[in-house]
Amino acid sequence: MLDGRIYNFSAGPSILPEPVLLKVQKELLNCNGSGMSVLEMSHRSKVFDDIINQAVQNVKDVMNVPDNYTILFLHGGASAMFAAIPLNLGTKSGVADYIVSGNFSGLAQKEAAKYLKEARIAGSSKDDNFNHIPTQEELNLDPNADYVHVCWNNTIFGTTYKYIPETGNVPLVADMSSSIMSEPVDVSKFAMIYAGVQKNLAPAGLALCIIRNDLLGEPMGICPKIWDFKKEAEKNSMLNTPACFQIYMVKLVTDWIKETGGLEAMKKRNEEKAAILYDYLDSQTFFKTSVRKSDRSMMNVTFRTGNDELDKEFVAGQAAHGFSNLKGHRLVGGMRASIYNAMPKEGVEALVKYMDEFAKAHQ
Ligand SMILES: *Cc1c(COP(=O)(O)O)cnc(C)c1O
Repeated sequence: MLDGRIYNFSAGPSILPEPVLLKVQKELLNCNGSGMSVLEMSHRSKVFDDIINQAVQNVKDVMNVPDNYTILFLHGGASAMFAAIPLNLGTKSGVADYIVSGNFSGLAQKEAAKYLKEARIAGSSKDDNFNHIPTQEELNLDPNADYVHVCWNNTIFGTTYKYIPETGNVPLVADMSSSIMSEPVDVSKFAMIYAGVQKNLAPAGLALCIIRNDLLGEPMGICPKIWDFKKEAEKNSMLNTPACFQIYMVKLVTDWIKETGGLEAMKKRNEEKAAILYDYLDSQTFFKTSVRKSDRSMMNVTFRTGNDELDKEFVAGQAAHGFSNLKGHRLVGGMRASIYNAMPKEGVEALVKYMDEFAKAHQ
């Protein structure tokens, strides 16, 4: 890490790659020869048009997106999509299936219930305090649903899908906010993938959406125009002033992903980082993790000592060790280390060293 920076384990907004931050700093007064920063320029300018088009192209390249999909950048982050998805996609039967595997999928289901005839809970791990992902056998899907919604990586609980749910002809929609571009994904298996960009790609406020073109239909009449997928697709995400800086950041971060070997290489690095932490957790008994082993997230690792006072003490010691944001989400307690794409391996190694010292001092 550069001088003065610390290992930031925040779940979001979260750590961004240093080479990207340096580039932003360099371009902040004069972006691409325009004589102004991206913060100041018209979204109708040639310079910005190039930026958004390159961002779109980079997303397609990095994620290997098939030609029959459209990339959109929409306002409001992932939570706005919790409403936009039923408003756009829930127009045939008015019924959708939600698999509730954690906090955000529950919020998505509640939001959808405002607009749909029925937002079914077609599977849930709530009774097990969301310590695993519902299996295919545990799902009770409606073959006439307009779509099935899943949350791919459960940021708060630290679980992730290791299988793609089989939904027959029903379109599969996935919230990938906290795992987007952490590893290759077969986009063709999904009707729509979306993500709030503040975990792996950019600052907060923007949703990246990857939508199969046959889903770009007429939304419900009450759908706000700025979240009308079809109209936004026709205007290249610029029905109104887009989140220019966030889109510029997506462009730079996806440049960085390309330069560092794409998603195969990213996956390798992420697996390596996660293994350092999980191998340590498995090697001792002081720290515990309640997540089912088969469903462990590669991005968000949750653990606890089993003693609230010790958890507090562990978190209180973070700053002195050059860490921040290790406190677990209030719904779960304990600790959480979010080890997104930009977290260097050295940060995870340093964390494990601290954990081990702490364990030995308190056993
Ligand atoms: C962070 C997060 C959200 C919320 O994103 P906003 O952009 O703040 O609305 C939704 N889903 C998941 C999986 C998240 O990690």
